[in-house]
This record gives sequence, C-alpha cells and structure tokens, in this order.
Amino acid sequence: MLNNLTITEAHKKLKSKEISCVELVQSCLDQIDKVDGDINAVVYKNGEKALEEAAKIDAAGKFDHPLTGIPYLAKDVYCEKGIPTTACSNMLRGEKDGKTYMPPYDSTTTKRLKAVGAISIGKTNTDEFTMGASTETSCYGVTKNPHDTSRVAGGSSGGSAAAVAADECIFAIGTDTGGSIRHPAGFCGCYGMRVTYGRTSRYGVMSMASSLDTIGPLCKSVEDTAIVLNTIAGKDPFDATTSDKSVPDYTAALKGDVKGLKIGLPKEYFIEGLDSEVEKRIREAAQVFEDMGAEIVDISLPHTKYAVATYYVLCPCEVSSNMARYDGIRFGNSVKKSESLVDYYENVRSEGFGDEVKRRIMIGTYALSAGYYDAYYRKSQKVRTLVKKDFSDAFEKVDLIISPTTPTPAFKVGGHADDLVAMYLEDVFLVSQVLAGIPAMSVPTYSSPRPSSPRRTSGEATSELPIGLQIMGPQFGEEKILNAAHAFCSK
Ligand code: GLN
Repeated sequence: MLNNLTITEAHKKLKSKEISCVELVQSCLDQIDKVDGDINAVVYKNGEKALEEAAKIDAAGKFDHPLTGIPYLAKDVYCEKGIPTTACSNMLRGEKDGKTYMPPYDSTTTKRLKAVGAISIGKTNTDEFTMGASTETSCYGVTKNPHDTSRVAGGSSGGSAAAVAADECIFAIGTDTGGSIRHPAGFCGCYGMRVTYGRTSRYGVMSMASSLDTIGPLCKSVEDTAIVLNTIAGKDPFDATTSDKSVPDYTAALKGDVKGLKIGLPKEYFIEGLDSEVEKRIREAAQVFEDMGAEIVDISLPHTKYAVATYYVLCPCEVSSNMARYDGIRFGNSVKKSESLVDYYENVRSEGFGDEVKRRIMIGTYALSAGYYDAYYRKSQKVRTLVKKDFSDAFEKVDLIISPTTPTPAFKVGGHADDLVAMYLEDVFLVSQVLAGIPAMSVPTYSSPRPSSPRRTSGEATSELPIGLQIMGPQFGEEKILNAAHAFCSK
C-alpha cells in the first residue's frame, strides 16, 4: 500500500528508487476503485494520462523536487487543459447535450504543479460552484465522510478532503472562499490551509466571490502543506490580485519551537451550541501550546457575531456577478427551444443551475439593486472593515489565534436539509478570517493517547469523528501558522 504515504515519505522512496512513480500512481488509482463507490469523492479519474506521465517520469529518473511524481487530485473548479471541469454543476456537466466543458488552458496552480512533475489523477467533488458546507449540492451527489459514511465530508472542498483522508491521493487542492478548505479538513481529519488573500493565484479557477476566493492545499501533514505552498504560492501576471511579496521557504519555517509565542483564545468562539467534546479538545490544544512554552492570552474579536450575516450579503453579491457569464452561449448548458434570447437565457439558467446557486444569484442581485445597495452591500463592506480591524488590533497583542474549526464534528447526510440557516452557521468560525483576508489552517486534534502518526488512514478503524483546531495568523503569517501547527502535531 503506497497510497497512504505522505508527500515527504513518497518522495524519499521515489528518490531512492525503492518504488516507482507508476506503482505510486497505480496504488492511488486502485484505492479510488476500491473505496470511492462508497465515498464519492472523485468525479473524474484521469487514469490513463496519469500513468503515461508517471512512466515518463520514471524513465527520466530525476526526483530532485519533492513533488516530482506525486499524484494529486484537484477540486472540480481548477481548469486543466483537456480534462472535463464542471464545478459539479449541470450548467457545465453537459449531461443532456453531451458538451461537458473542457478547458483549453491550465490554471496557474495546476500549471505550477505540472511544471515540477506532480501528477494530476483526477477531479474531486464540490458543492455546486463551491456554494455550500457539505458537498451535498453537487450534481454528482454527496461526498461521504470516510470516517463514517452516514455523515458528510464537509464542504465545499469535501471531495478533496475525503480523498486525502481515504488515501485516494497523496494530496489534494481546493478553494476557500468562506471556509471551504478548513471546514472539510476539520470534518475529515486532514490538514487544510487557507492562505492570505493574494498569496496564491486564482487564475484558471472558476470564481465564486472574487474578493474572497483563495486557492490552497489539503494534505496529510504540516510538512506536506509547506511543500505544496512552496510550489504554488507567489506572484502571477495573470492574476492582478496576487502579491509581489516574495515567497518564503515554508519548509524552513517548520522549526517546531513555540517558546515565548503569544497565542490568543477569542472568547467569541466559545459560544452556546459549541459541542462539549470540541471545546474540550481546543482547550487541551491550548494546554499543549502552553506546555511547550507559549503564552495563552484571552482576547476578544468583538465583531465576530456579524461575520456570517456580512459574508452572506457580500458573497452572494459577488456570486450574482460571477455567475452571469454562464449564459449558455459561450460555454455550458444549452437548450433547443426558446422563443427569444431572454427566453433562451432563462431556460438555460433555470435548467443548468441548482437551488443554492439560484438562491445566491437572487439574494445578490437584490442586495446590489438600486435602493438596497446602501442598506445591504455598502453596509456590509463597512462591517467587513470592522471585522478586519478586530484582527489587526488582536495581532498587536498576540502572534496567533486559535479556535475550533467548526462548532460540532461532521453532521449526518441531509442533517441540515430543512434548515438553511443551520447550514450557513456551519461557517460561523470560518468567515471572519475571509472578510479580513488573513490566513488560517485547520489541523486535526486527537483525544489522548495520540496515535504515533498524526495521520488517519482509511484502514484505521476510528471510534471517534475528527475535530479540527483552527490556527489563524496575521496577513502573510503562513510561516508562523505552519510552525505552530508543526509543533502541535509533533507533540
Ligand atoms: N460554506 C461557505 C459558503 O457556502 C463556503 C464556500 C466556499 O468557501 N467556497 O459560502
């Protein structure tokens, strides 16, 4: 079994020629065949091409970069040339007319991964156009949590998180607009990093809300997260919102020393409705940091309670604009019979989009319309500034902030079906960082005794559901977060 290796482990074995790249890729493809019928994390398998690529890499025999020959899965919103990309929406799936969207170009992230020899083995499930927190709104059906298949994997990058947790790949990439990497990472027990807005390029990744969207990895260890970030982060001439700031060596940041670090515990994240086991684990985590020499400081982020409402105005506003391009003319779904152009648009969009996407288009259009713009959109922008200020004030006093990733462990499939507000509240600990544009990471916690390896694999019987610890840092504070996560996870 090679598919359960981390990037670091697999790289060592490839380099010493203990294993071949073809064997490694094959082992992930076999695992997909074996377990994905139950989990439904993978919506497209790129088997043949991946094996061809692997054979070429084996023949070249050079494994200088830690990602050379490493198989990964990409969320179904990353454009990869010639590989069907559908955002898990009937709008692009082309099931009826057979015209599934095939991107003519690569996203910057997949291009950078390809350039160092990482191998794309397929596409993972997501909520439709990444709107959701359970991967239940996908046109391919729900992704199940590998730890308990009666539960969701979280979302919207639920496919990527579940695939990593079930060892269907060595690592995966996802997107985090309002928590979509951290939420499923928390539910599935893997490592999920949301970077500072602008740290990674959004080019070639289908947009949801452009001022909030970020690109990031889901991995089996902190070290692996650093390796992927080293490769994908940095300025991109195709995305004007990427930062000029040079990319540090994230691997070198993993010193594991947190002595003297000040870590904030925000009182607003310990609220009614917080699961008692979740609270216990986060307080234990704080103790672990304290035992390692960090100082735990009680802090307040006073505007936290407005974050969900603010996000659910701003996000739909941007969604309503981004979804306008799906008009059935340039790409995507098309319908045969229509009386007029307007009628055609209506038919294409009514048929192609699911309920959640339609709901956000309507909320966003309403909030942006004359007469309501000031009351909703402008006001939300003002609150966004206040939320951002909460963090800049807090980071004057502390180096990092910790909290639970989610208020509860993974919920049952269909558990929020009749309660939209409950679904939106899944993001309660995840959207403030998004509004502020700061980085944050979810890492798994364990009830003691901790397993010898911090990873969970599909083969491991788990009597408990994963619980995520969220570590937040100031803008471009990824190194600090990774170092603290590394220290915590090696403990
Ligand atoms: N749950 C959030 C939402 O539905 C997360 C979306 C995301 O990060 N893509 O908006």
